[in-house]
Amino acid sequence: MSDRVKTPPAARASAARRVEKLVRPEVRDLAPYSVADASGMVKLDAMENPHSWSEKMRAEWLAWLRDTPVNRYPDPQAAELKVQIRRSEGLERDQPLVLGNGSDELIQLLSTLFARPGAAVLSVAPSFVMYRRCAIASGMEFVEVPLERESFALDTDAVLAAVIQHQPSLIFLAYPNNPTGNLFDPEGIMAVTRGAHGLVVIDEAYSPFAGDTWIGRWREFDNVLVMRTLSKLGLAGLRLGYLLGASAWTKQLDKLRLPYNINVLTQRSAAFALRHRDVFRRQANEICRQREALFAALSAIEGLKVWPSRANFLLFRSFGVAADSIFEGLKQRNVLIKNLDGTAPALAHCLRVTVGTADENAAFLAALEQTLADKGVEAFGRG
Ligand SMILES: *Cc1c(COP(=O)(O)O)cnc(C)c1O
Repeated sequence: MSDRVKTPPAARASAARRVEKLVRPEVRDLAPYSVADASGMVKLDAMENPHSWSEKMRAEWLAWLRDTPVNRYPDPQAAELKVQIRRSEGLERDQPLVLGNGSDELIQLLSTLFARPGAAVLSVAPSFVMYRRCAIASGMEFVEVPLERESFALDTDAVLAAVIQHQPSLIFLAYPNNPTGNLFDPEGIMAVTRGAHGLVVIDEAYSPFAGDTWIGRWREFDNVLVMRTLSKLGLAGLRLGYLLGASAWTKQLDKLRLPYNINVLTQRSAAFALRHRDVFRRQANEICRQREALFAALSAIEGLKVWPSRANFLLFRSFGVAADSIFEGLKQRNVLIKNLDGTAPALAHCLRVTVGTADENAAFLAALEQTLADKGVEAFGRG
């Protein structure tokens, strides 16, 4: 017997009226963050590391987790994990760190820190969507400055002009940028940093593949934090990101952080994984090799433009065949990538593919060539 009761239509309508009255319009207008269903697909849409762990490493991990006291609250400071992060990144032993439930949570925390009437967050366009979502959610103005056409380089003069006009409290620059894959000129970022009265966060989500970092540079400034995550390295399911920088900033953020935001399974698992950093380094190196092979293969396909990348994904544009048709054609062939067409003017006809294993990339290329052959015939009315 079911005891589930349906909400009467009148109650639903009056709830909607309350929401209308009580919830800020910009929140009501936010579109849900939607993620495509990937069951049974070659999953190349979310910049995950496709490689698994050896049986031996799995067994060690489970043994390590066995005695984890899940009946107790986790260590609110995650001290053991921080030691491992500092060690594996070659940071100083007293380097202040703020940990987040993914760097997404850190973006939210940073927005909360500066939220006050009239305050602004600035980033470039196109870039990572969470900067905007978190700014809006915390009631801040969001200012975006277009990247240079086609090259997606940082338009330093335009950013500096916007900095002077809007006086943002917070600036996000992804290094390398998502979804364009390029590293902005460090000199340009430094100029922006010198011109800004607010905090500049260098988002190094793709550092395992980038070959460059701000870890050696941020100390020259009193307004730079570096943000990283273990997600793209191969631990997306654990949800762990961290911010590093001067303690004047990290102390404020640590007060706003919910005390137990990093659960005990994540703390222990991430500490374990970082002890095996070499495994992940080798995987990242393999992904970089695959990236170059995939770049060469895509570049050789007529009707496509591919941008070079310092991350674990490639951005490409289609001429002739619609991006929607490519996306759907791949999906019918069981390959899931990301369609960016329509998400920003600069990304018209663009798609983004995550670099997978050699086999996954081959499956993607085969599906792409079949799709282009089919659709190309339709698009050009041949055959
Ligand atoms: C994926 C991504 C993140 C989010 O990482 P999580 O730690 O998984 O929340 C942050 N910044 C950029 C630029 C990303 O692409």
